[in-house]
Amino acid sequence: LHNGYPYVDTHVHGHEYPREELAVFTGKAGLVLVAVSDDYESSRKTIEAARKLQGIVPCVGVHPWTVDELGRNAIEEARKVIDLAVREHVSCLGEIGLDTKFVGRSIDLQREVFHLFLEAARDYGLRLNLHTAGTWREVYDLIVRYDIGYANFHWYTGPLDLIEPIVHHGFTLSINPAVKIQRKHREVVKAAPLEALLTESDGPYRYRSIEMNPLLVPEVVAEIASIKGLEDVEAVRRRIYTTFAKKWLS
Ligand SMILES: [Zn+2]
Repeated sequence: LHNGYPYVDTHVHGHEYPREELAVFTGKAGLVLVAVSDDYESSRKTIEAARKLQGIVPCVGVHPWTVDELGRNAIEEARKVIDLAVREHVSCLGEIGLDTKFVGRSIDLQREVFHLFLEAARDYGLRLNLHTAGTWREVYDLIVRYDIGYANFHWYTGPLDLIEPIVHHGFTLSINPAVKIQRKHREVVKAAPLEALLTESDGPYRYRSIEMNPLLVPEVVAEIASIKGLEDVEAVRRRIYTTFAKKWLS
């Protein structure tokens, strides 16, 4: 996608940014983006942006919070998104997953929808960009049971003892700008091998004092290096890009 070792943002809601701003991220700012979607309409926008701009890997999906909002209509929404993925040869489903932390009341419906996506991922060999708030173990068990080839756990703040099995399966954890202030996320960076870490922004989203944005990714790389006591920040950036290329561009 680029020469050299660009910064990588493996989880950004690109459809929420004006096209010109996206072009700055993938152009002057030198980032590659994995752009996730929230519903059918944003999935179409994501595919369109990836077609127009270089340096964007598109993911289509129905976000667990959208499932919560849509109610039973989320089933039909998911079916439309899966058809779109197949028709447009999209290689990734996201943002999908389960959430008991913020929208636990709709967890049964979320499970129904997630199973549709898991079946599609298994049948078509798709990657997953996962939302797992409060459901880390359940999601891990499901993707193993469905024999999913590759998945990224976005903004992982789950149990530290689950990191080893996640890494063992070749899955990755993406580290968010929240790492500067969120204790649990810092512990994850410390506990996980560098080879299993990617960087992300989840932009545009606000976490406490931080306005998430792809331009914060260089700070995330520096923070990872600092937490791990690695002086060569450039080497960390190269390592993260190498992991990204292996998992996302093959
Ligand atoms: Zn997100």
